[in-house]
Amino acid sequence: MPRYAYANGRFVPHNQASVHIEDRGYQFADGVYEVVPVHQGHVVDEEPHLDRLERSLAELRIDMPMTRHALKLVSHELIRRNVLTNGFIYMQVTRGVAPRDHKFPKSKPRPALTMTTRQLPAKSEAQLEQGFAVITAPDQRWKRCDIKSIALLPNILAKQQAAEAGCDEAWLIDADGNVTEGAATNAWIVTPDKKVVTRQADHAILPGITRLSLTKLMAREGYELEIRPFSKEEAMNATEAFLTSSTNHVMPITKIDGQPVGNGHPGILTLKLREAYVEQVVNEGRGAAPGDIYNSMAV
Ligand code: PLP
Repeated sequence: MPRYAYANGRFVPHNQASVHIEDRGYQFADGVYEVVPVHQGHVVDEEPHLDRLERSLAELRIDMPMTRHALKLVSHELIRRNVLTNGFIYMQVTRGVAPRDHKFPKSKPRPALTMTTRQLPAKSEAQLEQGFAVITAPDQRWKRCDIKSIALLPNILAKQQAAEAGCDEAWLIDADGNVTEGAATNAWIVTPDKKVVTRQADHAILPGITRLSLTKLMAREGYELEIRPFSKEEAMNATEAFLTSSTNHVMPITKIDGQPVGNGHPGILTLKLREAYVEQVVNEGRGAAPGDIYNSMAV
């Protein structure tokens, strides 16, 4: 249990941290968030995560709650106070507190920043050997999934559907029959001719920081990558599949809708990419440079 949270401008005991009943995040989901991974007490990909936070806020015309430098100081202090080694920092920024009215408040309240941390166990060998099972479900989200909005109802419902099917994730299918991404992860496949495929980072997906780091790693190391949509059918016939996210790194997928992917075991290429990615996290704790997230929208 983390000992401290950051709320209303102060570090407070976690179980006493609270937000105002008229916080627009609470009433309208009028806010954004970031999940920033921490490995061995070291913040991973800090700059690209803060880039994405800044971008999400700008898209919604919410000011940064404090400077980037101050955000780093607060998050590092929270890591220290909570003795966080492996896990993540959760940052949430809302438009602030104002009497309930859909329009942006004229009073221009201060954006409300809250931060918590969570310790996570490392993935076990057994989990890695088994890989994840996913279901497919219709993508019922809005048309700006590139914004890391706290409005996550369709994602929650899809994740719950996956859990009730005994699976780990739901791959969301758009109106054209293509996989957009997972409910909380980016989606990848490997084709029979060994090309790694992931969808372009347009408005239909969240531009994952792990996705960004991995594409850069692959470019550096000469892997063949195709950035394009892929259909549910193509995924079902892929030789390998995997997902990426800050808390899962690169995770093999061995079943889609109950059917084995390839030979039903984690793919060789997937495991190679996982190893290379984890090594990068361990060695440098970063794979993308400041500003990359803006360029990644084109990738
Ligand atoms: N897609 C969605 C919808 C997500 O919620 C997340 C992570 O929360 C991701 C993709 C992966 O992003 P990242 O690699 O930055 O964790």
